[in-house]
Amino acid sequence: MDTFLQDRDTLKQDLAARGVRYLMASYADMHGASKTKMVPLAHYEGMMAGSELFTGAALDGVPQEVSDEEVSAHPDAASCAVLPWNPTIAWFASDLWLAGRPFEACSRGILKRQTAAAARLGYRFNLGIEAEFYVLSDSRGSEAPLSQRSLAKPCYDAATLLDNMGWLDGLVSAMNGLGWDVYSFDQEDGPGQFEIDFNYADAVVTSDRFVFLRTMASHFARQHGAFASFMPKPFADRTGSGAHLNMSLASLAGGANAFADPDDRRGCGLSALGYAFIAGVLRHLPAICAFAAPTVNSYKRLVKQGSMSGFTWAPIFACYGNNNRTNALRIPLAGGRVELRCADSACNPYLAAAMALAAGLEGIREGLDPGEPNRDNMYQIAEVELARRGIGMLPRDLGQAIDAAEADPLTVQVMGADMARAWIGHKREEWNAYGAHVSDWETARYLRFF
Ligand code: GLU
Ligand code: MG
Repeated sequence: MDTFLQDRDTLKQDLAARGVRYLMASYADMHGASKTKMVPLAHYEGMMAGSELFTGAALDGVPQEVSDEEVSAHPDAASCAVLPWNPTIAWFASDLWLAGRPFEACSRGILKRQTAAAARLGYRFNLGIEAEFYVLSDSRGSEAPLSQRSLAKPCYDAATLLDNMGWLDGLVSAMNGLGWDVYSFDQEDGPGQFEIDFNYADAVVTSDRFVFLRTMASHFARQHGAFASFMPKPFADRTGSGAHLNMSLASLAGGANAFADPDDRRGCGLSALGYAFIAGVLRHLPAICAFAAPTVNSYKRLVKQGSMSGFTWAPIFACYGNNNRTNALRIPLAGGRVELRCADSACNPYLAAAMALAAGLEGIREGLDPGEPNRDNMYQIAEVELARRGIGMLPRDLGQAIDAAEADPLTVQVMGADMARAWIGHKREEWNAYGAHVSDWETARYLRFF
């Protein structure tokens, strides 16, 4: 991550020279949350060799019994990031190992298995993740945007963006200090909602960054009396927060973008390889959606309008199109990449990207074609026309998404049997707990009904 700190042999000296005293051997749990132990710099060699052990049974999504051997974190030297706000600490993304070999159910390892499959076909999987999130004042019960302007349409508002530059400057400077190359950020559609876009990279690197970004955004928001929320749909009447996955394959020999084709007969600037990838993703989209939109709340984002005045820009149908944001898969204007729009800000990026890549590679191996891109506003298409085009809906709730993940053999193929079982079991409990909850909406509607 940090361009100064790439060489593992000199890393310890570099870190010492920069005043680093502690190292974080971090890895992502099932949810994509960063978990860690802190290691004093003197124990650098031991940590890099896997000294930090974690009791898997204490965590979500590390499918282990209490009696099992602990998993160990194997930090990736290239991921090292000195905390921009506290240079005594360096953070590392790690792979989990068990009994001397990579642990099958490690999220990062799950993605690495798929990037290795892409490499066997001669490609590097490039990924960009568009980070959308809310920053709201941190007082319980009155979580409000830091800048309160009465705007019916706050999207792209210059004054609101300037009002928020305190925490934004801290966060964006930190991202750029780590070499992420932020190229733009804005006030998004919802009051208090922002988007920060940074350059794409190898999918594992981008996923490491997205996990760390959620930690960093919280830090800089807190410094301004606020917090960063990565809840996919915090307010029914505002847009949700997506984490669109922008995907492409580059040739390992030479690095050319294998998804780019200026002569594309469909006029979207995408190669036949890119279309085959799309067709594979479409075949497995409901199961992919389960991992890309993994919470109860995710499915309140994947609606056309809800209680909002305008559209949500979030997908509801399992279809693809040109530069048209109403599709689950979109080919942005310049072509050369494919955007998965159902992914949201609460996803575990390793798992979502691994599912999408595995499906895309299947499309490539089988030479699939997705048919013609949808060019119209899918929100306004009549049901008969959807049926004629053979377009189904994305899962409508987490329950349907879990069913789709369970029914699709791709899930076990990508996750491995243990992680698939753990993930489905955990998510089903979450869904059942939600189903058993009596909400304010229900009491308001039914308590005094008769
Ligand atoms: N916030 C929208 C979503 O939930 C996306 C808006 C955009 O296209 O940037 O996916
Ligand atoms: Mg956006």
